[in-house]
Amino acid sequence: MSCYMCDKEIVSVEHAPPKSFFPSDMRNNLITVDSCQKHNEDTSLDDEYVRNLITMHIYGNATAYEQFSEKTIKSFKRSPALLQHTTEKQHSVNFNGAQTVAFEIDRDRVDLVMRKIAYALFYHKYNQRWLRKLITATTYLKTPEFKNDEFGQLIEELQRDHTPVYEGNNPDAFKFAFIELDDNIYNKYLRMKFYDGFEVWVIFDEDAGDCEPELNTIY
Ligand SMILES: [Zn+2]
Repeated sequence: MSCYMCDKEIVSVEHAPPKSFFPSDMRNNLITVDSCQKHNEDTSLDDEYVRNLITMHIYGNATAYEQFSEKTIKSFKRSPALLQHTTEKQHSVNFNGAQTVAFEIDRDRVDLVMRKIAYALFYHKYNQRWLRKLITATTYLKTPEFKNDEFGQLIEELQRDHTPVYEGNNPDAFKFAFIELDDNIYNKYLRMKFYDGFEVWVIFDEDAGDCEPELNTIY
């Protein structure tokens, strides 16, 4: 076995999703994959940024709220710069008749963390690297006009056609389902659900064909 991202020597393990996404009493059989030095690069600040965002999201369950009150608030107290970065651009919006706040987010950072989790889950489940260029999509992040982006629209269609059979030993914090498209092992979609609310889909760039895992693809 080699690294979940490349064929280099294994020096460490990576958690997928990062351990910090799980409350301390909800860490049964967390998923880990082998990793080389390069792909064990510390992305804990990115992980923390994304974890905070998701726990602040309006669709979270009680576990999300617990994570928000125990981890996210602490994280912002420890790092006022992170709080500033997370909340500096805000808009007031009306959501289902209630006035609330929407934040402009660092989408590249969210994508990087999501791709990393996706490559690791694929490797964990199929014992090989996911040789696809991945695109992350969610209907839970909106454009400045508070609409879905183009991938968000695609996801709304996919949601109607697929009933997920979720895996994951801590489903209140995280669960996931791969969707097979044909008999090519790499042609799959991945549906991930954080705190039983915040859903992210991972699809792939069909035109790119077979290619090694890549975290920093910009779309
Ligand atoms: Zn590697």
